[in-house]
Amino acid sequence: MSTELLEPLARVARDPHGGPQDRPGTTLDYIPAAHAPVAGVRGVHRRWRLGRTEVHALRGVDLDVFPGELLAICGPSGSGKTTLLNLLGLIDRPDQGEVLLGGRAVQTLPEGERAVLRNRHLGFVFQSFNLVPVLDALENVLLPLQIAGRVGAAERARAGELLDAVGLAAQMKQRPDRMSGGQRQRVAVARALVTRPRLVLADEPTANLDGESTAQVMQVIKELNRATGATFVFSTHDERVVAHMHRRVMLRDGRVQTETPGVAA
Ligand code: ADP
Ligand code: MG
Repeated sequence: MSTELLEPLARVARDPHGGPQDRPGTTLDYIPAAHAPVAGVRGVHRRWRLGRTEVHALRGVDLDVFPGELLAICGPSGSGKTTLLNLLGLIDRPDQGEVLLGGRAVQTLPEGERAVLRNRHLGFVFQSFNLVPVLDALENVLLPLQIAGRVGAAERARAGELLDAVGLAAQMKQRPDRMSGGQRQRVAVARALVTRPRLVLADEPTANLDGESTAQVMQVIKELNRATGATFVFSTHDERVVAHMHRRVMLRDGRVQTETPGVAA
């Protein structure tokens, strides 16, 4: 981590609105205790029908995500990583079992309520970055707040500080097509954090990055995790990513095979 990143990070951490842990009465309302899981799944099953065959993508998975952790979901291609992340991200619903957010079962809520929870409490980082090409970096970071309908001077300042924190202070007015893959993914990380979500979900976020960009993105995520307490769940089979995680869960054929605590703790 270059030293010029430390001061902006400190500003993000000292944010007058507070980090995710110190906003009583707002988004964390329904977390019953500081150490209680942020999110999780209980006995979830998900089946896909392909013509006459059925793919049983998740076969009874239990998982808790704790506040402030960096958790890797690993496993071979087809083991159910994306399916699990999509359940945690309220993008998909299980055929059986519960999806918990802040201790509350959310799998049966109406889609409108799930969309509000998704926008307010979850952040997403995608393998292919998913930035809007006609918007510059700052506008891309502001997008989740724009969708929630709240962008003023304070929000613009926060977006700028986050871009500063991911090492892109000089690129705020640049469009994604003028940026490298690593820079784009750092914009996406800033965007994922701009709403102060309880949980950021990242599905193979470094799969399209070279080794150096992967290292930079992971460094930035680790620093933001340390400075703000932001919680991340990654799916990955990249050992260079797993090495930075606090914990690893291994999926195989839709089941949790092993849990390894303290990969990088
Ligand atoms: P991973 O992310 O670990 O590669 P996925 O969660 O994408 O695994 O997929 C798990 C299994 O579910 C695979 O066999 C995959 O083909 C199947 N699957 C995932 N999504 C769909 C879908 N939308 N329709 C049909 N089958 C799917
Ligand atoms: Mg996948």
